[in-house]
Amino acid sequence: MLEDKNQEKTSLSQLGEFGLIEHLTKHFEVTHSTTVKAVGDDAAVIDASEKQTVITTDLLVEGVHFDLSYMPLKHLGYKAVMVNLSDVYAMNAEAEQITVSLAVSNRFPLEALEELYAGIQLACATYKVDLIGGDTTSSTKGMLLSITAIGKAKKEELVYRDGAKATDLIVVSGDLGGAYLGLQVLEREKQVFQVNPTNQPDLDQYSYLIERQLKPEARKDIPKLLRDLEVQPTAMIDISDGLSSEIMHICKQSNTGCKIYEEKLPLDPQVIGTCEEFNIDSTMVALSGGEDYELLFTVSINDFDKIKGNPNLSVIGHITEAAAGMNLVTRANQEIALKAQGWNSFEE
Ligand code: ADP
Ligand code: MG
Repeated sequence: MLEDKNQEKTSLSQLGEFGLIEHLTKHFEVTHSTTVKAVGDDAAVIDASEKQTVITTDLLVEGVHFDLSYMPLKHLGYKAVMVNLSDVYAMNAEAEQITVSLAVSNRFPLEALEELYAGIQLACATYKVDLIGGDTTSSTKGMLLSITAIGKAKKEELVYRDGAKATDLIVVSGDLGGAYLGLQVLEREKQVFQVNPTNQPDLDQYSYLIERQLKPEARKDIPKLLRDLEVQPTAMIDISDGLSSEIMHICKQSNTGCKIYEEKLPLDPQVIGTCEEFNIDSTMVALSGGEDYELLFTVSINDFDKIKGNPNLSVIGHITEAAAGMNLVTRANQEIALKAQGWNSFEE
């Protein structure tokens, strides 16, 4: 990792900007026929073909969105790509290209950026996307990383947030709350480490949670699965801020209400066990945790037979008329209003 004092360090000024870009990008392969020109000219060129183009950007700031004391740079690179691909898949589209823009202070040696780009490259290879460009500049303090992802879909396959209708089923992929708990575990270990640097934590029992936080996977498989099942979602969103806030986005934009059933929320055993240990409510974690990068979508009730029993999917509730509000039905069969307590980067 970056903090390893014995490693050789190469100052970025030794390479210069063009040398640096060349060095960081030369091992990336272009795989899509739609990528006409990648890194190396004034701009990249994409052949738009007959499909519609999907574009999404995220900006990640050191100290706000990531903490390099427990986030290895390779993981940061991988995760930064996942965050963007997840948004493309949430449109029911296929991702094909990314751009990477980077501002770094002179605190970072070349080796640190190599690690970052190793993570980006692994993500590109695993998810079959082409790195086609970006920008590189210096910052006075810390690192800023902005990734843009570009994808495509047939017009009739694109799924927006505003298409949900009363009686539609609400479906989520995977399980919820793991990434948030992984962060809690890492924060706790960081504090222990600050008090006692020789302490070697045993994190085996949290392995799934830490992986969900440090190495999330975007659900590329879900749009494909839905196509194979011949299910066209009516609305879809990815879970970056927490289930509650995401379902509220769908309901507000679709002008509907919803009922989510507490007993249906998919939880990994490590989430349940760690919630008990930390004495926090697993339902709260599932509803408000965030960073799970699962897909939340609605489907017509007529599609229930096509999705029921699928191990990747959980039906967690249904859409209602707007007047019924947005509610959680508890295990005790009480209805309580959902609150969006998603993570907010402007919070104090
Ligand atoms: P310009 O001066 O026109 O902005 P640059 O020298 O910044 O050009 O970029 C040269 C090429 O390298 C372009 O294709 C650009 O998209 C690409 N590039 C620049 N920075 C990065 C980066 N951090 N990652 C990937 N590609 C990059
Ligand atoms: Mg530039």
